[in-house]
Amino acid sequence: MSYITCKFGGSSLADAECFRLVEKIIRANPERRYIVPSAPGKRRPDDKKITDLLYAWHNLLSQDLDATQPRGLIAARFEQLATELGIDFPVHEHLESIAAEGAKYKTPDYMASRGEYLNGRLLAALLGATFVDPAECILFDDEGLLDPVSYEQLGARLQGEGLFVIPGFYGATPEGAIKTFSRGGSDVTGAIVARASHSRLYENWTDVSGFLMADPRIVPGARRIDEVTYQELRELSYMGAQVLHEEAIFPVRGTDIPINIRNTKEPENPGTMILPKRVSKEPICGIAGRKGFTMINIEKALMNRERGFGRRVLSVLEEHGVSFEHMPTGIDTISLIVKDEEISHHGPSVLKAIERTCQPDRVSLAPGLAIIATVGQGMAGHTGIAARLTTALAKADVNIRVIDQGSSENNIIVGIEDDDFEKAVKAIYDAFTH
Ligand code: ASP
Repeated sequence: MSYITCKFGGSSLADAECFRLVEKIIRANPERRYIVPSAPGKRRPDDKKITDLLYAWHNLLSQDLDATQPRGLIAARFEQLATELGIDFPVHEHLESIAAEGAKYKTPDYMASRGEYLNGRLLAALLGATFVDPAECILFDDEGLLDPVSYEQLGARLQGEGLFVIPGFYGATPEGAIKTFSRGGSDVTGAIVARASHSRLYENWTDVSGFLMADPRIVPGARRIDEVTYQELRELSYMGAQVLHEEAIFPVRGTDIPINIRNTKEPENPGTMILPKRVSKEPICGIAGRKGFTMINIEKALMNRERGFGRRVLSVLEEHGVSFEHMPTGIDTISLIVKDEEISHHGPSVLKAIERTCQPDRVSLAPGLAIIATVGQGMAGHTGIAARLTTALAKADVNIRVIDQGSSENNIIVGIEDDDFEKAVKAIYDAFTH
């Protein structure tokens, strides 16, 4: 039999009712065997996430300040969960030992990881599952990167009958100290567990029914994406479409394990499937974008003949620690698109350095740029996609300040005025969905 790894996010485990839904989902399919929980999330918009309370607890402890408030809120939350689920769970003993152990650490990692740890213990008790502590088998190397030996070590712990619960978000350093992934990192744990257990599928259960083709705040009722490739997802997430942790695809990318984003409150919805290759032939799968970019425009007559010009420009950025997003070029022009926060402090000194190093005819900064990525592997070798996009923008009276398509032909980037952003996203969405 092949198995499924299921990761449940904080909003899927926020209270006892959520736990029951999660239990029902797990029991509905005997293939669902490896379970990765996050810490309890918000029950209402004004509620506190357990992980945030744990960070607060660590901060207070490390300054020798009174931590009664966050600790009390955490205790109350787990006590309520245990009582409502009918589980005998020694919350106070756990918190005592967390306080004592937490005081030994300078970094917040240990404390922050305890939300997942306690939730994992509770869920394992509810399901009658084997609890596997990632501190013993998910290991980071000296540079803080995942040590590939983790797959074997974890795989060895996942042998045998029944269900397994492996808390998300943390592992251990070579010295044995607890270390967390970055925020939202239980998604990464889920992918590691899927790979280590040779699961046939990684289900990521959250509070939305997958990825939408566009931000629903801009396009109300935007369609769900049925299938998206790892590469497409990376392009969309980079431009702001956020459902899954950016690093969650790496552990499963080289394998055949697809990721299925599902909604705990709507389990019948098939969600979005993230695959190495998609079957559907739709040219476009999604549109994502952001405001807040600046363009550095450089002009110089006969730039095309000057060897090393591009290299000199880029070395100026490197020296100033500025990274760039796109570099559209003309015969005698080079533009560099950078995030506002990258350039805000160095603007004048970057311009001066370009003047000095490259002696251009003109160099200037043009702020107020929004970038929209229209992403889809189906556009490769497909004629008329850029025409459809630019026609839609023209009809919406949106001026394209810059346009760029990578050679892999899976992404067309347009740079437009910040003020035109919402109008442009709508126009592109309509052009590819009607
Ligand atoms: N609980 C952690 C956080 O809030 C990790 C996670 O939920 O994935 O960031």
